[in-house]
Amino acid sequence: MAKTSAKSQKYVYFFGNKKADGHGGMKPLLGGKGANLAEMTRIGLPVPPGFTLTTEVCTYYYAHHRTYPKQMWAQVKAAVANTEKILGKKFGDVEKPLLVAVRSGARDSMPGMMDTILNLGLNDQTVVALEKASNNPRFAWDCYRRFIQMYGDVVMGVQKRPNEDHEPFEIVIEGLKEELFPGEAHPEDTRIDTAGLQELVKRFKALIKERTGKEFPTDPWKQLEGAVGAVFGSWMNDRAMVYRQKYNIPSQWGTAVNVQSMVFGNTGDNSGSGVAFTRDPASGEKVFYGEFLINAQGEDVVAGVRTPKPVAQLAKIMPAAAKELELVRQTLESHFRDVQDFEFTIEEGKVFMLQTRNGKRTGLAAVRFAVEMEKEKLISWEEAVQRVPAEQLDQVLAPVFDRAAIKAVKAIAKGLPAGPGAATGKIYFNADRAVEAHHKGEKVLLVRVETSPEDLRGMIAAEGILTARGGVSSHAALVARQMGKVCVCGASALHVDYAARILEVGGQSFKEGDFLSIDGTSGEVYAGELKTAPSEIIQVLIGKTLKPQESRIYQDFAQLMKWCAKATRMSVRTNADSPEQVANAIAFGALGIGLCRTEHMFFEGNRIDAMREMILADNLDDRKKALAKLLPYQRDDFAGIFRTLEGLPATIRTLDPPLHEFLPHEGAAQQDLAAKMGVPVEKIKKRVEELHEFNPMLGLRGCRLGIVFPEITEMQTRAIIEAAVLVQKEGIPVKPEIMIVLVGFPKELQLQLEIVHKTAKQVMEEKKAKVKYLVGTMIEIPRGALVADEIAKNAHFFSFGTNDLTQTCLGMSRDDSGHFLPRYQELEIVKQNPFATIDQNGVGALVKIAVEKGRQTRPDIKLGICGEHGGDPASVKFCHRTGLTYVSCSPFRVPIARLAAAQAALEEKAKGKPKAKKK
Ligand code: PEP
Ligand code: MG
Repeated sequence: MAKTSAKSQKYVYFFGNKKADGHGGMKPLLGGKGANLAEMTRIGLPVPPGFTLTTEVCTYYYAHHRTYPKQMWAQVKAAVANTEKILGKKFGDVEKPLLVAVRSGARDSMPGMMDTILNLGLNDQTVVALEKASNNPRFAWDCYRRFIQMYGDVVMGVQKRPNEDHEPFEIVIEGLKEELFPGEAHPEDTRIDTAGLQELVKRFKALIKERTGKEFPTDPWKQLEGAVGAVFGSWMNDRAMVYRQKYNIPSQWGTAVNVQSMVFGNTGDNSGSGVAFTRDPASGEKVFYGEFLINAQGEDVVAGVRTPKPVAQLAKIMPAAAKELELVRQTLESHFRDVQDFEFTIEEGKVFMLQTRNGKRTGLAAVRFAVEMEKEKLISWEEAVQRVPAEQLDQVLAPVFDRAAIKAVKAIAKGLPAGPGAATGKIYFNADRAVEAHHKGEKVLLVRVETSPEDLRGMIAAEGILTARGGVSSHAALVARQMGKVCVCGASALHVDYAARILEVGGQSFKEGDFLSIDGTSGEVYAGELKTAPSEIIQVLIGKTLKPQESRIYQDFAQLMKWCAKATRMSVRTNADSPEQVANAIAFGALGIGLCRTEHMFFEGNRIDAMREMILADNLDDRKKALAKLLPYQRDDFAGIFRTLEGLPATIRTLDPPLHEFLPHEGAAQQDLAAKMGVPVEKIKKRVEELHEFNPMLGLRGCRLGIVFPEITEMQTRAIIEAAVLVQKEGIPVKPEIMIVLVGFPKELQLQLEIVHKTAKQVMEEKKAKVKYLVGTMIEIPRGALVADEIAKNAHFFSFGTNDLTQTCLGMSRDDSGHFLPRYQELEIVKQNPFATIDQNGVGALVKIAVEKGRQTRPDIKLGICGEHGGDPASVKFCHRTGLTYVSCSPFRVPIARLAAAQAALEEKAKGKPKAKKK
């Protein structure tokens, strides 16, 4: 197309005939689909010509009351003319009409969230031309009715109303089918003949008139205008917004719009449409994977209305096309160097490519792809590490059904394994009710005939998703895979009666609220609530019930972790309070304890009584008596932990409970404690009242306890050092690190450390032994960060307690923010939950100040993080960039943190290098 002048901005990018204005590197401007259509055109793959309206148009559209830049339509006209020239067809022509598809395409794919319109350009005249040109009246009228249906829905808003379970156009189709095929259960749409389709066109137009009061537009340019507006408009529809929120896609990105000449998969039995992956996106196996429908347009495959056939069967039905597709598969993988998810159409035996993108994959597949592609020398080990989204490792560690439990039952149905893992829950047939039940704390399975994007909220709430119709690339499957949800789809033996809220299968029936269990790895569906078992990786590493060589996923995982160790700068520690938790974390590769919360140790057995006695004591003697009871517990616990660590460091924190967590508030509990302590219940009641705090989180907790009651710090130090001496004498090295908590004033730390050092010295003298230990502090209130240079004078290390640091920096209660944070996220006041992902600009700035000031005073100061953020990939990467020594997280998140830490190191390395040139 003609070059635009320097003054007029380029809004339209053309592709066709092996040439393209854009390329695969232009995703921010052209969206993922547009950029890859351009790229595929350039590398000679058969892409029908067309053009992309850029995401800048979308930005303009929303900034200017839903209008377009001035020059845009002229550029569209030129691009349409170019398309017409290549194909020898004309838009709106009654002889050889050009028909186009109008599709959205954001930078990151958002499957099914925005709108699409196919067969645009048809009207009562052009349909006749298409009839003649194709010599296939049924095909022409099928295209026309589809166009009216999509356009009516998307552009003219003829949609399901609240509380309706079916789309209005589908109701019209079902009605006609009942008239044409009375008494038949599920007659396929393909059996409706030309006259039937003509009747549908009539009824659809009437439906549109009835619901909107408007006639269906006949002018193709008007149609194009409407479609472009609707697709840009769909960027702000409810489901797209929910999706963006879940996946942190900024709304400023906008979507592009792709207008592409139509190719037809519905001209007859020598045509079809399909979706395929270059490898299996569920298991990760290197097999050509996907499905197709004969005589259908692409939307039929994705919508899950008809259950498609596996792509392997294409070789029998259309051998030439199958060969061509296999070639495409190889070209795509070697060019894009990643697993591709692509859409194709076969028109009269000839293959056309409509889209390609990096395939969404399960965690299981992500790990296997990465490891195998490195073996195949398609990618380097560094790239392999970058290929697995750290968050997805969660899925690999997710539970499976207990083998014994599975053996004892028979599956009631089988569908396609679309999202691996085991899920069990109460069934709900409607997304809203599923969400409601989830809010009540129920475990939910969402059961639908097929899911549509409207079900997104219900899918998020559910443990798993089960559908009766649809294939592995249906909406349910795609979305489930990405969310890491367990999913079984296309279990055709299921009969769902939405109205009666009943599921019937093999003579059994289940009401809403009954339990079912689904296995998204095998596709089996079971009645009732089945017991689950840990993933194979956990069975190998922790349960030791499976040998490494018996589990391929374990082997892939181990390889990935090995590469992580090679790449990483930060180490990963764990937050653990018992030897068992420590052992688990070490099995996952943790290199010590970053936080041992000593108060957690008192929740067990009758220790809580001694703890309560200690808290409730109103004089020093009583408190010392209670502390003497606690000492042996603590010493034994610490000894157990040191033994398990075998010389790895253990950061042990002094007592930090908001006291209310331990107090008996109920009458019965108070009575019980009074009896145990041999004091009148009134005394307990009175003391509980005295200790009542309005803001316990800001009250007598942290080092303030040790300041007011130094004997607590003394007892804890004694327990730590005595345990260390004991274990060291057994020949096991120990590395205790005593951490003072909630420090804001340098003097707080100084006073507490005086007690620590004095007690440690005393114990060592008593035991005639020497133990090396470090002392440090948590930085978890803003004042602590701001005076970190002063604090560092006494601290060998800092550990950022970002739970409290977030709470105090934002002035937002970590326990109460659940009520309003979702709304804050919806409004994008905060992009992510700041208690899950570190608020880099606010809390992160405090961390940076503390790092800088701490290092000024003590250049070799050890720096770690032990808030929940230590297991969150984005926060782990932030910690790396900020120069922390380690992150600490809960045991089961250790692999995720290790992967994120390795990725951060590789990202940094890549930034240091000049960018690789585009091929
Ligand atoms: C923190 O505040 O980040 C922290 C680790 O301590 P806790 O969660 O025990 O308050
Ligand atoms: Mg804290």
